[in-house]
Amino acid sequence: MYAIAEFLSDIGDIESSIDPITIRRKSRDRYAVSPLLRQQLQGKYADVVVSPKTKAEVIRAVAAAVKRRVPITARGGGTANYGQSVPLHGGILLDMTGVVGIVWKKPGAIRALAGTIVNDMDVAAKEIGWEMRMFPTTRTTATIAGFIAGGTGGIGSARWGVLRDRGNVSAVEVITAEEDPRILELRGTKTSLALHGYGANCIITEVEMPLTHAWEWRETIVAFPTYMQAVRCGVALGNTAGIVTKLLSIHEWPTPKLIQPLIGIVPEGCATLASYVAFPSADDFDEMVAEFGGTVVSACREGEGAYGIPLYEMAFGHALAQIQKTEPDRTAIEGFFHSDDIVDLVERVHRKLDGIGPLRLELRRWGNRLAGSGSPYVRFESEAQLARVARIMQSEGAGVANPHTSSVRSVGKKDVTEQDIAFKRSCDPYGLLNPGRFEVESGADDVSGAALPTDAWVARRGGG
Ligand SMILES: Cc1cc2nc3c(=O)[nH]c(=O)nc-3n(C[C@H](O)[C@H](O)[C@H](O)COP(=O)(O)OP(=O)(O)OC[C@H]3O[C@@H](n4cnc5c(N)ncnc54)[C@H](O)[C@@H]3O)c2cc1C
Repeated sequence: MYAIAEFLSDIGDIESSIDPITIRRKSRDRYAVSPLLRQQLQGKYADVVVSPKTKAEVIRAVAAAVKRRVPITARGGGTANYGQSVPLHGGILLDMTGVVGIVWKKPGAIRALAGTIVNDMDVAAKEIGWEMRMFPTTRTTATIAGFIAGGTGGIGSARWGVLRDRGNVSAVEVITAEEDPRILELRGTKTSLALHGYGANCIITEVEMPLTHAWEWRETIVAFPTYMQAVRCGVALGNTAGIVTKLLSIHEWPTPKLIQPLIGIVPEGCATLASYVAFPSADDFDEMVAEFGGTVVSACREGEGAYGIPLYEMAFGHALAQIQKTEPDRTAIEGFFHSDDIVDLVERVHRKLDGIGPLRLELRRWGNRLAGSGSPYVRFESEAQLARVARIMQSEGAGVANPHTSSVRSVGKKDVTEQDIAFKRSCDPYGLLNPGRFEVESGADDVSGAALPTDAWVARRGGG
């Protein structure tokens, strides 16, 4: 269907593979966490995997693909959970994991090539006394460009907000999908053009991130008799700037029983608040949780938990992955709690969802104020069941994004503006970048997966 042989001849010595096993492996990401995407994305493969090792090779490969009008789907670590790095229309899978390295670092900032693993940037920053402000829980396999193009925030967001919050991404260098690709440097608010674009509007080649002073962090798990006590405490901690935390992750019972590493650590029936607390704040943290009826059941240096895995691998998207090891039919939607009174909003949603499944709440800053995200972990029955949960949450004023679909608009986590459309038009004039994921005309987007009632980018209500 595409002129692959001619393309391969054009790219000469750039590494490539048409081996079917390599193609299959690189054509999927972590979409299997969704029972609906598992069905929808099966059998979607690239025709060839191209693995450039330098920026110059990326540019040559993209130029050759555009000349032959072959679609290009960029891929980093392949940890995306909406299936957004699966090539819907075949073509080239552009494996960016060979384009690695720190370009420079200095106090407060670091710049790296697109395929650099987020963890490697953090390690490099720590060598000079700094650290990444935030990272996804997939930090050891996720690339920085994949985080920018497919992620939202994560550990650190409780203090610093999410990627799209002003000042959290300093610059993104991208190339256009033209026969003679242009290199563009997006800085300041322009960086938002590249955020959550699923590689459908540009190819990212370098990312510059602001850093924060490195802290020594204490991993802490607190048990509470009730879920709402944990929520009240988490919100109070999140609003107390003097106590330095970078994670406030709350789980209702029986989630602690479904996450196997927590068995024996969390008392029967208790809700948990998991947190990274800077050591100088530990006494104030402990005092505050006691005031809210919490008991510290685990406190240790980073990486030394009796549970045997990093604490962050039980928060955000990782919590569901852990739960699915115990109960594979559990799934979730993505709810957002933006309110002047988060506790009241969560309490109303909690009451109304009564017994549907244990609630999760990740507290983080978002648009300069504290907000929550999460939803119940339900035992999957049908798309209609998930839509029902979404409507219940919305009826109380929570917002919903859809993790069971894989196009930019249908997931609903990017506020698509006229600037985004103009950027897409100018960077991808032939519609070759990850086709189906984000088109100039919304009607051309792929909308397979679940059609949940989402609120296109709920942050509008919460500001930012
Ligand atoms: C268990 C689990 C936990 C997770 N936790 C979090 C979390 O805490 N926070 C969070 O934000 N996300 C989370 N995610 C989602 C995902 O892991 C992260 O967003 C991660 O940063 C993606 O990086 P990656 O290199 O794996 O990207 P990939 O999966 O390879 O790609 C992600 C998207 O970016 C595009 N892309 C990749 N490289 C480029 C490039 N160079 N130029 C343009 N587009 C590109 C791809 O086409 C794709 O659309 C989680 C996922 C799972 C499965």
